[in-house]
Amino acid sequence: RITVAAALSAALSLSLAACGESGDVGSSGDETVGIAMPTTDSPRWISDGRSMVDQVKGFGYGATLKYAENDPKAQVEQVQAMIDDGVDALVIAAVDGRALTDVLRKAKSAKIPVISYDRLILGSPDVDYYATFDNEQVGELQGDFLVEQLGLVNGSAKGPFNVELFAGSADDNNTRFFFNGAMKVLKPYIDSGELVVKSRQTKMDDVTTLRWDGVRAEKRMNELLDSHYANERVDAVLSPYDGMSIGIIKALKAHGYGDGDRRLPIITGQDAEIPSVKSIIAGEQTQTVYKDTRELALITSYMVNAVVHGKSPAVNDKSTYDNGEKIVPAYLLEPVSIDKENYKRVLIGGDYLKESDLR
Ligand code: BGC
Repeated sequence: RITVAAALSAALSLSLAACGESGDVGSSGDETVGIAMPTTDSPRWISDGRSMVDQVKGFGYGATLKYAENDPKAQVEQVQAMIDDGVDALVIAAVDGRALTDVLRKAKSAKIPVISYDRLILGSPDVDYYATFDNEQVGELQGDFLVEQLGLVNGSAKGPFNVELFAGSADDNNTRFFFNGAMKVLKPYIDSGELVVKSRQTKMDDVTTLRWDGVRAEKRMNELLDSHYANERVDAVLSPYDGMSIGIIKALKAHGYGDGDRRLPIITGQDAEIPSVKSIIAGEQTQTVYKDTRELALITSYMVNAVVHGKSPAVNDKSTYDNGEKIVPAYLLEPVSIDKENYKRVLIGGDYLKESDLR
C-alpha cells in the first residue's frame, strides 16, 4: 500500500532529483550528521528528531541526536561537542536564534556545513541553508480560520467580537512571521471595529510567550480574563502553538467557559500535536496548523547530502530569510489548516497519526 505521505515524499524526491542538484549519491558510510533539537517537551520535536535520524540514515549517514530541553547554553555545548566529534554536517533547530554565533564560527573553521532547521539561526554568516515551512502562511491560516469561523468573511455575522492575541517566544525568528501573517488578516477587522481586543495588547512585544510555554500562556489568559472579561465574553483567541492552546483552554475552563451554554471561544494552534487533535475532536480547541515534519526531515536530508558533496541543494526561496548577516537560501514547505472536518483525512489518511493515538 502506498501511503499519501510516501507518495508525497516520492514526489518531492523526484522533483529534487530532477533538479540534479541534490547530491545524487549518499554517504560512503563513515559520515555523520549532528542533529540539535530544542526540546522533548513538545511531541512535534520528538517526531522531527526521529524523522531526521531515519532520513539521514536512509542516505547512509550516521546520526547524533541531542535535545537541549529549551536551554540555549546547553544547546551551544551540544553543538560544540558535535564539532569536536568531527561530524560532517550540522542540522540545528535553535532554542535561541541568536545564541549560536560563536559556536558556528568554529563549525565554519572546521568546514562543517550548517543547515538551519525549521527556525532561522540569526546573526551568523555561517548558516548555509534553511529548511522550513512557509511561516507567514502559518499565521495567515490561523487568522483566516478565526475570521471565517466568526462569520466575518461571508458576512453571516457582523460583530463586534472580542479576541485576544498570543505570540510565541521572542527569541524564535518564526514568532514574528506567525504573528505578522495572522495580523495581516486580523488587523483590518480590528481597525474597522469588527474585532475588539479588550486588553489592547495588540503589539507582538506585548503578547510573546517565553519558550512557547503552555503554563505561561495559561497564566496570561487567566490574567486577561480576570482584568478584562468579568462581564464580557471572549469570542476568539489567536494561539500560535498547540501547547499554548492547551494552557489557554485550561484558563478558560477555570473561568467557566465550556460549561453548559458558555461556549469556549474559537482557538487556533499549530503542530497537530496529539493532545490538541484530541481536544479538537472533543470540541475544545478549534484548529491547528499541521506541518508534516517527515517532509521537513526529508528536504533537510537532501540539503545535507548535497552540501556534504559540495553541491547546491534545491531551494525555492532566496529572498525572505535575512538573518542579519546574510539572506539564507531556503526551502519552504506548505502548512495545512486542520479542524474537526479534515483531521481524519489529512492526519490519519496521511499516516502522520494513528486512529489509536487519538483514543
Ligand atoms: C515552530 C512551531 C512550534 C514552535 C514551538 C516554532 O519554531 O515552527 O512549529 O509550534 O516553534 O515549538
